[in-house]
Amino acid sequence: MRSYNTGIVYSDEKCIGCNKCIAACSVLGANCAIIQNGQNRVVVDSRKCVICGSCVSVCPQKARTYRDDSESFFTGAAQSQNISVIIDQSFFVLYKDRARSVLGWLRSLGVKNIYSSSLGAEISVWANVRYLLAHHEEDEAPFLVNCCPAFTLRVEREEIDFLKKLIPVHSPAFCTAIYAKKYLGDTSRMVFISPCVAVKDLISRHKGTIDASVSFDSIITRFNEAKYSGTESDPDQTGRTFGNIISAEDGMARCLALFFPEKYIIAHYNNLSPHTFSVLRNETQNCSLSERPLASTVVSCRNGCLDGPGTKKFRSTVSSICIEYFRMFTDSMKDLDIEASHKRNLEMLEKQFAGLDCADFTCSFQDHYQQPYRIPKSTYDEIFTAMHKNTVKKRSVNCGFCGYRSCMEMASAIAYGYNRKENCIHYMNEEMAFRYFIDPQTGIPNRAAFVRDAELLLKSNPAKKYVVCSGNVNKFKIIDDLYGFEAGDKVLHIVSVVLKYTVGSEGLCASLGGGNFALFFEYTPENMARLTKREFIDCSVLGIAFRVTMRFGLYVAQDRSESIMNMMNYATISMDKNSSPMENTFTMYTQEFHDQMKLETMITADMQGAMERQEFKLFFQPQYNPAGTLVGAEVLCRWIKDDGFIRTPDVFIPIFEKNGFIKKLDRYVWEKSFQAIQRWHSAGIKVVPISLNISRITLKDDDIISFISDLHKNYSLPPHTVHFEITESAYMNDQKRLIGRVNGIRNLGYAIAMDDFGSGYSSLNTLKDVPIDILKLDMGFLRESENTERGGTIINSVVRMAQDLKLMTIAEGVETQNQADFLCSIGCDVLQGFLYSRPVSQAEFERIIGFSK
Ligand code: SF4
Ligand code: SF4
Ligand code: SF4
Repeated sequence: MRSYNTGIVYSDEKCIGCNKCIAACSVLGANCAIIQNGQNRVVVDSRKCVICGSCVSVCPQKARTYRDDSESFFTGAAQSQNISVIIDQSFFVLYKDRARSVLGWLRSLGVKNIYSSSLGAEISVWANVRYLLAHHEEDEAPFLVNCCPAFTLRVEREEIDFLKKLIPVHSPAFCTAIYAKKYLGDTSRMVFISPCVAVKDLISRHKGTIDASVSFDSIITRFNEAKYSGTESDPDQTGRTFGNIISAEDGMARCLALFFPEKYIIAHYNNLSPHTFSVLRNETQNCSLSERPLASTVVSCRNGCLDGPGTKKFRSTVSSICIEYFRMFTDSMKDLDIEASHKRNLEMLEKQFAGLDCADFTCSFQDHYQQPYRIPKSTYDEIFTAMHKNTVKKRSVNCGFCGYRSCMEMASAIAYGYNRKENCIHYMNEEMAFRYFIDPQTGIPNRAAFVRDAELLLKSNPAKKYVVCSGNVNKFKIIDDLYGFEAGDKVLHIVSVVLKYTVGSEGLCASLGGGNFALFFEYTPENMARLTKREFIDCSVLGIAFRVTMRFGLYVAQDRSESIMNMMNYATISMDKNSSPMENTFTMYTQEFHDQMKLETMITADMQGAMERQEFKLFFQPQYNPAGTLVGAEVLCRWIKDDGFIRTPDVFIPIFEKNGFIKKLDRYVWEKSFQAIQRWHSAGIKVVPISLNISRITLKDDDIISFISDLHKNYSLPPHTVHFEITESAYMNDQKRLIGRVNGIRNLGYAIAMDDFGSGYSSLNTLKDVPIDILKLDMGFLRESENTERGGTIINSVVRMAQDLKLMTIAEGVETQNQADFLCSIGCDVLQGFLYSRPVSQAEFERIIGFSK
C-alpha cells in the first residue's frame, strides 16, 4: 500500500481537492487524488515529488506545505550546540530592512559563524568554469549546471537521460559548507537557511557538509515572535563580487558568462516544464557542439531563489525587491568589468581561489529513475470509454479542470493510479446526466429521458404519426416473491432487451420502475405487428417456468399539443382493460375511452361539492304484496343538479365505486333515510320497512357496523322499519368477513336482504352460509322471451326453496301483469317494479304514506 504525504512536501487536512497543485506540478504522479474521510484530497507521493515547491505557492487553501529542520535547529541552539549557519544570499535582498537584526538575533541564540552563500556561489562558479574550460570541446561532455536542487532531483528521478549531462560541481550552498569546514576549520553543525525546500533532500545524501535546512519563513516567524531589539550583525564570510547576484533568476548564468568570450552562450531556463526539457533534449540530441550553448542553467522557481517556496516575501513586495536586486548587482560588479576581457575576470577568479583544490567541490549524482509501465492503447481506450469519452472531440477537451494539461495526461494518471475519473468535471457532468436519465435497475432510459426524447422526436418529425405505449409485467410481484429480487431484476433486464429490440433504433424504450415500461415509436402496421405478435416474454433461461406476460395500453399521438405525460397516462389507463395474465394483451385508447375518462374526471371533481350542495336526492320505489297493499320501499339515489340536470345512478355509481366515494354516499343516504323514517314515525305514521343498499365497496369497510350502530343509537327506530340490502356480487369475496358483517347488522335487529339473486353471481353455498332474511329475485329470468318457460321454472324453484328456508321473497323489476300473475301464483311475497310504481321522490312517497309536514 502506497503511503502519501510522508516526504518533505505534503498537504494537510485543509486540502479541498481543487487540483491547483496538480496543475502547478511538472511531475505526473507526484500528486495523487484520493478520497479521505469522504473528502476529495490531493496528496503527495514522495517517491515522485521533486520538491520543487511550486504547489506550495499556488495552493489557495494553504494546505500544501513542507517540513524543514527548524525544530531541531532551535532546540539545538537552546541546548548550546555548536552551530554555524549558511544563509542564502537572497536573504539580504528579500529582508534588507531586517537582515542585520536577524543575524544579530541568531548570534544571540548562540550561532557561532554566519556565512553568506555568495561565498560558495563564487567557488561554485569557479569550479564550473574550470570544468567547462576543460571539457567544452568534448561532444558528450556535461553542460547542465547543478545550481537548483529541484532541477537536479528532477533529472535523477524523471529525466534520467540528462544525468550524464550534469556538471559534477556542488551548488553554492554546499560549496560554502565545504569551504567553511575544510578551509576555515569550522567543525560546527552546519545549518542552511534558505528559501529552498528541496535542499533538505540533498543534505541527507551528502552527509558531512550541510547538516540541516531551515526555511526563511521559519526563521522570520520565530524572529518576529522573539521581538528582538539587540545588536545587529553581519556575516563572517561573504563572496567578494558576483556571488551577491547568484540568487537571481538567471544569477548563475550571468556569473558564468563573465568568464567566457561572447561567442559562447550560457542559456537559462526558469521552470521544470516539459517544454524546458524538450528544448534541452533538442540541444543535446540535435545540435552540434558549435550550435548548442556552452552551458545551460535551469532553476525551478520562476524568479529564482528570491521566489523560493520557503519564503512569501517575494510575492508580497516584488517591486522593491527587484530594485534592491539591481542595486546589489551594480555594487557587486564594480570590481568586475563586464565589458572587460573575460580573461581578466578569469585571472581574478583564479587568484581569488588559488589556495583551493577544485576536486573538493565536485559531486556525483544518483540514478533514482523508475521505468514507468508503458500504458497500452487498449488501456487508454478502456479509460476513455469509462469516462464517457467515446469521440476524438471528447478526448481532447483539455479544459484543465482536473489539473492536467490534457485529457490524455489525465487518462495516463488514471492508468497509473494517480487519479480517478471522478475528478474529470466533464465526466461528472455526463455521469450526473446519465444517472438522472437512466434507470439503474435495467440500464435503459428512465421516465425523464423518455419524456425528453419523445418530445424531441415529435418536434423533429411533424409528418410522422407516433404511438405511446405503456406496458406492465403481469404479476411481477409474484416473480419477486417466488424467485427473489435478484431474479426479478433479471426478468426486468430481459424484458427491457426485448422491448428495446421491438421498438428498434428509431423508437424509444424506457423503464419506469416496478415492472412498468414506456415505448414510443412510429405508428406503422409493421411496428405494431412487431409489438403485438409477441405472445409472452421468454425468461426460461432464468429458470422461470411460467410465461412472463405483459399488458400494454396504447395511445396514438394524434393531438400533438397533448403533453407526453398525458399521453402516457392515457396509454396507462387503457392498459388494464382486457388484460389477461396468460398472454400479452394490447388495448388501444379509444375516443369512447377518452369520453368515459373525461366523464369520470368531471364527476370525480364534482362529487364532493354535490354532496355539500345536497344534490343527492332520495327516491323511493314502493313494494306491494299480491293483495296490492304497500308493504315496503327501496331507497334509491338520484343526482339532481341545481340546474335540474339529472345524473342517473348507472353513470355515477360505477365511478363512485371505482374512486371510493360510494362509501360516503351510502352513509349519506342511510343517514338521510333514518332522519326521514324518524320524522314519519314521530308523526304517528305506520312506517313500512325501508330498504337501504350497502354497496360491495362499503361492505369492505371495517367500521361499517359501528356506523350503523351509531345510527341505531341516534335515531332509535323500531328495527323492523329498516332493511339492508347487500348486492349479491359482494358475496363473492371473503365469506367469513361477510358473515361477520351480516351478523353485526342483524344483531341490531335489522333484516338483511340479498339483492339481485340470480343476476349472475349466485351461489347456493352463499345462501346456505350467510344468515339472510329476504331474497330479492332478479327478473332477468322472465325477460328473456325464448327462455321464459325455463326461467319461470327456476323462479318457481327458488321461491319454494326460499319458503322452505323461511326467507321472505321480493321480486323486483316486475313490469308486466303476466309477470305479476305468475309471481303471485308461485307464492312470491312482495312485488316491486314499474308495473306498480316507478321510484318516486321523497315528497311523493310521503304523500303515499300519508305524511304531511
Ligand atoms: S513540490 Fe513540486 S514536484 Fe512536488 S508535488 Fe509540489 S509541484 Fe509537484
Ligand atoms: S492546491 Fe492542492 S493541496 Fe492545495 S487545496 Fe488544492 S488540491 Fe489541495
Ligand atoms: S475534460 Fe476532464 S480529463 Fe480532460 S482536461 Fe478537462 S477535466 Fe481533465
